[in-house]
Amino acid sequence: MESKHIRRFEKLVGRENVYSDKAHKLAYSYDATRERFEPDAVIFPRDENDISEILKYCNEHKIVIVPRGAGSGFTGGALPSKGGIILAFEKHMNKILEIDTKNLVAVVQPGVVNRDLQKAVEEIGLFYPPDPASQDYSTIGGNVNENAGGMRAAKYGITKDFVLAMRAVLPNGEVIRAGKKTIKDVAGYNTAGILIASEGTLAVTTEITLRLIAKPKLSETVMGTFKSVNDAMNAVYKTMASGITPVAMEFLDNLTIRAVEEKFSKGLPIDAGAILISDIDGDVKEQLDYQLKALEKIFNENSCQNFKIAKDKQEVDDIWFARRNASPALSVYGDKKLNEDITVPRAELPKLLSEIAKISQKYNLKIPCFGHTGDGNVHTNVMVKHNSPAEVEIGHKAIEDVFKLAVELGGTLSGEHGIGIAKAPFMYLAFSDAEMALFKSIKKAFDPNNILNPFKMGL
Ligand SMILES: Cc1cc2nc3c(=O)[nH]c(=O)nc-3n(C[C@H](O)[C@H](O)[C@H](O)COP(=O)(O)OP(=O)(O)OC[C@H]3O[C@@H](n4cnc5c(N)ncnc54)[C@H](O)[C@@H]3O)c2cc1C
Repeated sequence: MESKHIRRFEKLVGRENVYSDKAHKLAYSYDATRERFEPDAVIFPRDENDISEILKYCNEHKIVIVPRGAGSGFTGGALPSKGGIILAFEKHMNKILEIDTKNLVAVVQPGVVNRDLQKAVEEIGLFYPPDPASQDYSTIGGNVNENAGGMRAAKYGITKDFVLAMRAVLPNGEVIRAGKKTIKDVAGYNTAGILIASEGTLAVTTEITLRLIAKPKLSETVMGTFKSVNDAMNAVYKTMASGITPVAMEFLDNLTIRAVEEKFSKGLPIDAGAILISDIDGDVKEQLDYQLKALEKIFNENSCQNFKIAKDKQEVDDIWFARRNASPALSVYGDKKLNEDITVPRAELPKLLSEIAKISQKYNLKIPCFGHTGDGNVHTNVMVKHNSPAEVEIGHKAIEDVFKLAVELGGTLSGEHGIGIAKAPFMYLAFSDAEMALFKSIKKAFDPNNILNPFKMGL
């Protein structure tokens, strides 16, 4: 990048907020995909006005801008794959601006870490449910732009269900507001709805207004052991269709159970076909008793072999440890996992899992699965050897089959990780030419010069 541009940015936001040294370029060159692309510079804007001035200048000079939260994305959304400027919010734009206890909303800057918001609202008896497993470091700006989900989505929904409004800067530097602090707002297009999950391709989010709820007073954790994946998947969709709404309904298949046991020895049933982990919550004991009874009945009707209610906090932590560490445990099967997060309508889960077993056999590759089955979201992990290009190629074929299967079953390529660059080649499976053309025209309306996170999402 020409030094005149760097000098201009320094003038706009201060020298101490613009970096083009090797260390910064390296530090901001990756995300959880482990792909690497170095930016030309990293800028830490102080406020919305700085962002507006930077974008105006970049738009005039056709300089690429990539907004970045914590860089925990799994699909390369925050990677500067075409070079340009990284806009990072963790230095200045990381404040909770308001917790409005009368209207039950929080107003935050994009760099606020999810866990920090959760702690702040829980201290005063409120609750922000979206809890991606990356909650200790991922930011609300990143969560909104990926529409992150979490363990509690089965009952409470995902990030979009909590966004009431946002402020954002368009690529030409103009500031817009989308939505209000109100619960209802049907005036005009739902601009916030377009910006959520847009992966930083349409506008830079500068402020987010989130809905809060009262924190439930009681909860219980349950683990069900099933002989087969099919039994477990039947139990999932029948539970969710029964009208009781567990907070979480998480699943580990046999390969995942064995991997967790091999790595962490938590006493899991290694011969089980699958386990389901479920949380329920409420404010009065009778509510919880009713849900527990209903859950046990449905699990047992689907050949549950052991229905265990956690006795104390230690047991709750042990059960959840197994689920939270499922992903790292899979390294016992290979040093590279091609992990996807397909989602299908819940009643299709039994078919999905039985077909994935066939794909595993077809390519002779292990495909351990786990995930948020309460919302139909399954993490499929095709395990390959990093240093075997042939095996990696076969792995990608298996992934393509998995995507085709998900779409055939009425599902989607991604339930929470987004498209970025990693899944862009598969958009053709899920969207028609007309639908892709519509996406492209939306992108063009926001960003005619294609400076904001270009070529992501297959655009
Ligand atoms: C161990 C692990 C577990 C995970 N578990 C989950 C999970 O349970 N559920 C889930 O949904 N995801 C999960 N993820 C994926 C990831 O954490 C989420 O996608 C998260 O929302 C990304 O947040 P981030 O702050 O890291 O954003 P980044 O990865 O930095 O960015 C994500 C996208 O948002 C855009 N963006 C960021 N900030 C802005 C802004 N202010 N304005 C415009 N665009 C912006 C970026 O350009 C990029 O396209 C996990 C990741 C890891 C590594």
